[in-house]
Amino acid sequence: MVNGRLNLIFDADDTLWDSNPHFLAAEEAFANAMLGAAIGCTQARLKETIHRREIEVIRRLGYGRGPFVAALHETVDELAPGSAGKPLHARVEAIGRHLASRPCPLLPGVEATLAELSRRHRLMLLTKGQPDEQLAKLEASGLRPRFSRVDVVAEKDTEVYRRLIAQELLECRRTFMIGNSPRSDINPALRAGLCAVYIPYAKTWQLEHEELDLGHERLIVVEGFSQLRTIF
Ligand SMILES: [Mg+2]
Repeated sequence: MVNGRLNLIFDADDTLWDSNPHFLAAEEAFANAMLGAAIGCTQARLKETIHRREIEVIRRLGYGRGPFVAALHETVDELAPGSAGKPLHARVEAIGRHLASRPCPLLPGVEATLAELSRRHRLMLLTKGQPDEQLAKLEASGLRPRFSRVDVVAEKDTEVYRRLIAQELLECRRTFMIGNSPRSDINPALRAGLCAVYIPYAKTWQLEHEELDLGHERLIVVEGFSQLRTIF
């Protein structure tokens, strides 16, 4: 138990609500369409192409559902150029519409835990992606009133955490970053001097994986969101 009023900064995707499973399902639907289209492409080449295109598109457009769909279109252009790609582009559009329309269900314990923590502490939200997309998900979640500050950034690196500390005059030993991503939530927050709580998520996106120093003195690891109530 950590005493007194704290600053708790939360990640959103795959910490408060399901996100990556939707992308995995979309990618699977896309792979089925591509492999069933007799364009002579192996599963390994398809996977490599999707992930290479994804990284290129993220550099240009940032994270999010729109950029992901753009990467699928580019994959079609590369592996099924010309008329062979026409029905596949139509399939990508349908997959993209489905992905965009999917609500993001809250993970177990999130609603009750945030309600309780917000009575004792100051809660902030720090997420990366497209601002309109992330803010719409936040509004739909009903959780917006719990947070005194919300930031949607292009990338969550150490500089972003340092800026937040400076802008809000955060005392590092009383401020925790809470999330599922070693690469975006935990490691850069620790490097900026903050404390961190890692909540592992079984379907975390592969690009978010990174080595974690589990013995770090400012890092706490919990098994589920509800456990935050006992720590804070
Ligand atoms: Mg996350």
